[in-house]
Amino acid sequence: MSPVTEGSRVILPGATIGILGGGQLGRMTGMAARHMGYDVHVLDPDPNCAARAIASRTITAPFTDANAAAELARSCDVVTLEIEQISRASLDAAAEFAPVHPGADAVYIIQDRLRQKSWLADHGFPVGAFRAADSAASLGAAVTELGPSIAKAVHGGYDGRGQARLADASGATDAWESLGARPCLVEQRIDIAVELSALVARRVSGEHVVYAPSRNHHTNGILTWSVIPAELPGSVVSAAEQLAAAIATALGMVGLLAVEFFLTTDGRLLVNELAPRPHNTYHHSERACATSQFEQLVRAVCNLPLGDVRVIAPGAMVNLLGDVWLHATPPDMEFALGVSASRLHLYGKGEARPGRKMGHLSTVGDTAQEALSRALACFRRLSPDSALAAGLCGPPPMLRSADGALLAELAAVDRGDAAPWRGPADSDPDREDVG
Ligand code: ATP
Ligand code: MG
Repeated sequence: MSPVTEGSRVILPGATIGILGGGQLGRMTGMAARHMGYDVHVLDPDPNCAARAIASRTITAPFTDANAAAELARSCDVVTLEIEQISRASLDAAAEFAPVHPGADAVYIIQDRLRQKSWLADHGFPVGAFRAADSAASLGAAVTELGPSIAKAVHGGYDGRGQARLADASGATDAWESLGARPCLVEQRIDIAVELSALVARRVSGEHVVYAPSRNHHTNGILTWSVIPAELPGSVVSAAEQLAAAIATALGMVGLLAVEFFLTTDGRLLVNELAPRPHNTYHHSERACATSQFEQLVRAVCNLPLGDVRVIAPGAMVNLLGDVWLHATPPDMEFALGVSASRLHLYGKGEARPGRKMGHLSTVGDTAQEALSRALACFRRLSPDSALAAGLCGPPPMLRSADGALLAELAAVDRGDAAPWRGPADSDPDREDVG
């Protein structure tokens, strides 16, 4: 490791932050950095990337171009990233010239889905049953063992892309080919009651803070909405926070770590996946929390005091995918923004494509339920066709039942009928299933 990466000096406003990746996460991180007085340089393969508008310098190069990563680092005081698919050679090359946070070791574990899941299992963190497959035959054998499964390409998938669902082994050849005949992670399909995430910010010193969990809803593998606080049983909230902090510490993470969880219908809390960067499910933190995830990343990588993570107003966000612009009826921004406490975020991407994240809407409210209801109402006004397609036209989902009690399917978790995670243990029964 170069001496530069070991440095733990404070990087004060006026300095330049380099961001590997210029998508919307880089753009919003860059905006936070700029409002704190930093300059921002970005590297991205797309010359018209979303972050270009806020960067004083944009290097156009693939994430495998180690020379370009070194060039970015040479002009910066610290380098961070907004996407995990940066080659190890690029991360190492950048680290010769500036501290890179998070570091190459943690990113290397996370950027390969199989390596990541194996690391979690080996460290005693709760995950669903999984196998590795490197051929149609081994994919079929895995599904025979696991039952209904999801095969995920080990590299490059996001927003549900690079995934194939299999009911049984008869679909193995088609699934293998649809994933491009590439090595994959095969996961047993989980009966999910609720999806949630937790976000940790950690400094070089090991000091860390954990945001309250966010409750998340996906449609066809893509995040639709998120709300904070998650309105889940206290045992689930504290187990998620403790797990996320333990994972960030075990990885030696500096910066942000988002941990996605499944709460199963039988009350187990399983880690779905990790992200070493800002996360779509915390876009509401910009309004709901005392410190947004983007400012927090800047603070963590610059070794500044971490910001207060408390929820100052319950908040919600709903994603705006390219589909919103592709319906016969164009999005009605003016009508949508008539919803109380609504805010529109657009990422400045040129071309709307189905499934492409173009922006999001956010709202706050007196309660999580009110914030979520407002966000969904705003979305319905913006694009009734998209709301219909995403199944968001009915009454908003109830986070709690009318009398204030938690929904029935979650009550078992609070009663202790289903024990939450209690820390790594050699005899963890979940681990017997792990391939
Ligand atoms: P994103 O970029 O939105 O995080 P991704 O492409 O990284 O998504 P995953 O998080 O692995 O993919 O999966 C997307 C969604 O698909 C999950 O949030 C969940 O709704 C569903 N899903 C993934 N794995 C499983 C599983 N093993 N069992 C049941 N559902 C799953
Ligand atoms: Mg995910």
